[in-house]
Parts: sequence; structure tokens; C-alpha cells
Amino acid sequence: MDILCIRGKNICTPEGIRAGYVMIQNGLISDVAENLSPSLSREVIDIGDSFLMPGLVDPHVHLNEPGRTNWEGFATGTRAAAAGGITTLVDMPLNCSPVTTTAAAFDQKAKAAEGQLQVNCGFWGGVVPGNHTQIEPLIDKGVLGFKAFLTHSGIDEFPNITGDDLQKAMPIIARHNLPLLVHCEISTNLVPGGDERSYLHYLSSRPKDWEDKAIALMIRLCELYNCRVHIVHLSSANSIAPIKQAKEKGLPITVETAQHYLYFNAEEIPNAQTAYKCAPPIREKANNEQLWQALQEGIIDFVATDHSPAPPEMKESSSGNLIKAWGGIASLQLALPILWTAARKRDIPVMNMAKWLSANPALLPGLNRSKGKIARGYDADLVVWDPNKKFTVTAEQLHHKHKTTPYLNQQLYGVVEQTWLQGKLVFDHGNFPLLNKGKIVTLDTP
Ligand SMILES: [Zn+2]
Repeated sequence: MDILCIRGKNICTPEGIRAGYVMIQNGLISDVAENLSPSLSREVIDIGDSFLMPGLVDPHVHLNEPGRTNWEGFATGTRAAAAGGITTLVDMPLNCSPVTTTAAAFDQKAKAAEGQLQVNCGFWGGVVPGNHTQIEPLIDKGVLGFKAFLTHSGIDEFPNITGDDLQKAMPIIARHNLPLLVHCEISTNLVPGGDERSYLHYLSSRPKDWEDKAIALMIRLCELYNCRVHIVHLSSANSIAPIKQAKEKGLPITVETAQHYLYFNAEEIPNAQTAYKCAPPIREKANNEQLWQALQEGIIDFVATDHSPAPPEMKESSSGNLIKAWGGIASLQLALPILWTAARKRDIPVMNMAKWLSANPALLPGLNRSKGKIARGYDADLVVWDPNKKFTVTAEQLHHKHKTTPYLNQQLYGVVEQTWLQGKLVFDHGNFPLLNKGKIVTLDTP
């Protein structure tokens, strides 16, 4: 039987980095060995000193198709993912139109994705006021969990929920042991107007307090309904202690932060640069240092991009109005080099990239039995990259539909060389040798 074999000196396995061979058969890793078994016919690919890591899993991506394909789209988004070493992403239920809050909308989205997926893609369903009767039909369709907002989402068709809605939705979601992903901000104290081009004004308009209140509420409800709660894009370090306590109590709560909260600090963000606008906002250095600490201690489980682009007009790129601009940072293709560049300055080892970008994020959508590890029986979804090579981010390199990103002109370490999807080479040194090999991943996928 034909076996494909990747030989490398730096293979990131759950036991650590080792030299050897990764054997691939029928899209799966059939063995990880120090030596080649002489009896097998095989093709050997030598990656030399480059690192072989499990393909990245990004469970927080807004691809915006159908309906807002002019913002991103399956074709461009998943191409960028492949170029960034991401082999599975999970698309959010909002920004697309219709929003994924009904079984019918799920069908429309799955149909729109057909023939456009460069990498695997799963879907989150949405919880909005009044749609609790759609939760089980969405589960039957194959959503991997649900997303809800506690403040205005920016998309009018995706209103935020209140205590009443959570009371109806959480017991149903808990019964199926799926996660409820929550955008944790409760907009209580609105700040008075100020200079709308000032970053510090924008920062003060979404204080930590908004996040802290929302997180406290979700910890209470997590305990009350014994429902898996996942806090998306944690930015306020004030919430680290209560989250730690909740975890120590054994509550089923998980947390992600995003690359931009770890890479940038508010002090360095120039005014009127709307590419940096996201919600909750990027905060001060002292806050962000605590996020790093919490990530290293395992209180924050993983890092996801929250890739959420919009056309330049919506980003108010020319006016520089941070209050009006769409809140969302585009970074999908750069997920690995951004985190690695910031991590290597702190002497964090490469293995942590495999943990924070592959193994841990695979747990949230329940894909951890097939993805996120280089081990026998796992999908041969792999990334080959060179952590020592650096590059400068240019618009031409990016496969995102819009090139607006705060990372333009940044010098980053970590060049993605190859991406393998179920044993097939889908990205190779800037080229895409095979197209549309991605699959829709649902809970039913074995
Ligand atoms: Zn998001």
C-alpha cells in the first residue's frame, strides 16, 4: 500500500519535538516513527530543519458568506487560512446574511460553501432572542455549538440576548453538551462624547467593567445550568481571577484571547488608525502582560484570530473615525507568525504554538479526536514552517479579500512553507497546488 512519508528534524508531537518520520495513509497519520520500516513502498518528503506541527485550528472566524461576501467569503478566507497553516476553522453565525440562527439559514450557508473550501470549515449556530426552538434543528444540521452576544453585535439581524433568552437556551445546549460561546460585554455606563479619532477615547468608551460584568454573569449561569460556556476574545485582565476561581471549582468554562491583545498595546496605537479597532478594544500594556501570564498558566485556554474584516468604507479608513468604524481585525493568514513573534521575545518555546493554536482550540468544537495532534490515527492536517525566518507583511502577500490589517509592514518571525490537508499538499511555498479539498466538518463527522 502507498504511504506518504514526511521526514523532519523538528516534529511537534504531544511528547515534544523529535526527529523522525510521519507516515500518512488514506489521509490519516498511520505512524510517527524514528526509523522507516523497510518493507513499505513510499514517497519521502524531506522538510529538513523546518518544523512540522499539527495544522492550526481557528474556532473564531467571520467569513461573512452568504450575504456579505464583499466583506470576505469562503474562497478568499479559506485560501488565506491555507496560506497561514490553518487546516480547520469554525465560522461565526453572524456577518453572513441570513445569520445562522435557523436550520434553513444553515442550509444556505453550507450550500454557499460548496466547492470553495481550501481548508476544513465548521459552523457555529447563533442564539438570538426568540430562536430557542431552532437550537435543536441547528444541532441536527451539524453546528458545533452556539454563539451569543450580551451587547449589540454590530449586525442588526443578530440582536443580543438577555437573561430570559439564556434561561431558555442554556438548558437545551447543556443537554447536548455543546459549548455556548459568548461575546462578553454589557454596555452599562456610556461615556460622553470626545474626539472620535482618538484611540484613547475609543478605549475609554468600552471599559473593562463592561467585560467584567458580563463574565461574572456567564460564570453564574454556567454554574446554574451546568452548560459549557466559552468566553471569546478575553481582553480585560480583571476577569482573570474570577475565571481562575470558576475553573478551580470545576465549572465547564473555557477562554480564548486573540492575537491582537497579545501583540499590540494601546500605548502604541496611533490615532485615527481604524485597522486596530475591535471590540472589546486592545488595552494597555500592563493589562496585556497579565493576559500573557494567564495564557502561560493555562487560565486562558487558547488563541484565536477573531478574523473579522470589512470593506475599507466600513472601516472608515479615510475618515479615521474610530467610533463609526466597523470593529474587527483582519489577521487570519498571519495567526501563527503574529503569536510566534510575540512569544519568542518572551522565550516561549515553539511547542506552545502547537498547544495554543492546534491542540487546545480543537477541544472547543469537539474535534480533538481527529485534529490538533501529530499522533497515530489523527487526520494528516499539518503545517510546515520555519520559526527562524522572518518577513515583512505586505498587502500583496495577503489572500484576504481586503488588505486592511494593523499588521501591514510589521516584521514577523515564522514563515509558513507548506500546508497539508488530510495528506494532500494544499499550500506550497506561495502556491496552491490543489484546490477545494476542504470539507464541512459537523458533529457527525466520524
Ligand atoms: Zn468575533
